[in-house]
Amino acid sequence: MRFAPSPTGGLHLGGVRTVLYNYLFAKKYGGDFIVRIEDTDQTRFVSGAEEYIFDTLKWCGLEPDESVQHGGSFGPYRQSERKETYRKYAEQLVKEGFAYYAFDTPEELEKMRHDYKMEHNPSPQYDHTIRMKMRNSLTLSAEETQSLLAEGTRHVVRIKMPEHETVTFTDMIRGEVSFDTSLVDDKVLLKADGMPTYHLAVVVDDYLMQISHAFRGEEWLPSAPVHILLWKYLFGLENMPYWAHFPLILGPSGKLSKRDGAKYGFPVFAMNWADPNTGDLTEGFKEKGFLPEAFINLLALLGWNDGSEQEVFYKGELIEKFSMERVHSAGAKFDYEKAKWFNHEWIKRSDAGYLKPEVRILLEKSNIIVTDDRLLEKVIGLIKDRCTLLTDFVQQSSFFFNTPGSIDLDAIKPKWNEARQMFFVELIRNYQLSPDWHTHTLENNFKEIAAANDLKPGDLMLPFRIMLVGGKFGPGVFEIAAIIGKDETIKRIEHTLSIL
Ligand code: GLU
Repeated sequence: MRFAPSPTGGLHLGGVRTVLYNYLFAKKYGGDFIVRIEDTDQTRFVSGAEEYIFDTLKWCGLEPDESVQHGGSFGPYRQSERKETYRKYAEQLVKEGFAYYAFDTPEELEKMRHDYKMEHNPSPQYDHTIRMKMRNSLTLSAEETQSLLAEGTRHVVRIKMPEHETVTFTDMIRGEVSFDTSLVDDKVLLKADGMPTYHLAVVVDDYLMQISHAFRGEEWLPSAPVHILLWKYLFGLENMPYWAHFPLILGPSGKLSKRDGAKYGFPVFAMNWADPNTGDLTEGFKEKGFLPEAFINLLALLGWNDGSEQEVFYKGELIEKFSMERVHSAGAKFDYEKAKWFNHEWIKRSDAGYLKPEVRILLEKSNIIVTDDRLLEKVIGLIKDRCTLLTDFVQQSSFFFNTPGSIDLDAIKPKWNEARQMFFVELIRNYQLSPDWHTHTLENNFKEIAAANDLKPGDLMLPFRIMLVGGKFGPGVFEIAAIIGKDETIKRIEHTLSIL
C-alpha cells in the first residue's frame, strides 16, 4: 500500500481519510504502508509541506512502515531523488512507439490553442487530432529528430494515446470502469528539465516499490486510463496494483468548498505557511481541540461503516473491521456537529491522566499555571463530560485555579433580597467554623441553614454557583467549593456580597 502525497500544501480531510483507509487495509492484511513523496512538480512545491505531512501522520497515529523518514528497502522515497530512474522508461516507450518526443515551444503551444479553438472545442488539447500538426518525432523525419536531440533542443516526451480504444479496469469501489482513449490528451511523461511528470513517476514507482494496492482520491480517476496504458506498455497488466478511487467528501451543501475548509477547521493542524489555495493561515482540527482518536474515528466513518449501529471505534477495532466492500461509492457528507459529537465521546472515554498534558498546555496559553498535578487531574476528571472540545477545558476549569475575573451579577440580582443576603452571611460563618471540608458536609450545612431560614436550597444554589464560578456553568457546586478550599470559597462569597 502506498500514500503518495505531493508536498503542495496542508493535508486536508480527504487526504487523511485516504491515508487512513490505506493504513487500515495494510494493517488488516499484514502489509506495509509506504509514504512516497511525489515532488516532481517543482512549480507547485511548498517548502515545509513534506514535514507537515509527516507531522500530521504522527499526530493521527498513522505512522508509515517505509518513507523518507522511516527508511525501507525500496528508497529513495522522494521522487526528485529518483529522477535518473525515469528517463529510461520514457525512452523505452518512445522506442516501442507508445510515446514520442515533442519539440514545440511554449509559443507554438499557445498558437495551437489559439488556432484550433472552436465553439465546440474551446480549449483544444494536444491529442490525436492535433499531434500530426505539431513539431514532434511523429511529424519530423528520423534524421531531423536525431539532430534536434543531438543539439540539445528542449523537448518533452508525450504518451501517444491510442485512438478509439476502450481501457477498462476494475476499481475496488466502483467495479468496472471504462474510458474511451480518444478523449484523453497526449499527456507529457517527461518534462524539458528531465523530470518525469506525475503520470510516469507514479506508474514506475508503484512497479519498482512492488505496490499491491493503490488507493487514492476520486480526482485521480480521469488519469487512470493513462496510468493503465503505461502499466500495459511498460510492465504488463498482471503486475498492476489493485486500484480504488475514494469518493469526495462533501460539505453540508454539496461539494466541500474552500470556505467550508476554513470554517470546519481543515487541515489537520495549523500550517505555518499561508494556504496556497486560500492565502489563509487556517486553524486545524488539532487547534480546534480534537483528539486524534476522535479524528481518526470520524474520518473512518466518512464513507465506511461496519454494517452495525456502532459509531465509536478504537483503532484496533477499525483495523479488525475495516473492509473495502463496505466503503461507499457515493460521496460522504461531512457534518461538523457530528464531528464534535465524536470528540465529546472520546473525551468522555479518555482518562484524566491522558488528557492532562494537552489541557495543561491550553491552560498555560491562557496564563493559568497549575503546579498541583493531582489537583489538575481531579479537576479534569470532574469536568471532562462537559467538554466537547479540548479547548472547552479552559473555560470549564479556570475558576478552580483562579478567582473568576467577572461575576454575572445580572443572573443574581433580579431575585436578590434581604433573606438571601442573610443566608450567605450565615453560610460564611458556618463554613468558617466547619471542622471538615468535604463535599457532603458543605452540602448538608448549606441545606440546614436554608431550612432553618425557610428558604429553598434550590433557589440559593444558582447564586452560590455564580459566586464561585462567575457564571451559570460548571460541575456540582459543592464539589467546586471542596476543591477550591475554605479560604477561597469564603473570599468569593464575600466578594460577591460586597458588590451586590
Ligand atoms: N501525488 C498524487 C497526489 O498528490 C497521488 C495520486 C496517487 O495516489 O496516485 O495526490
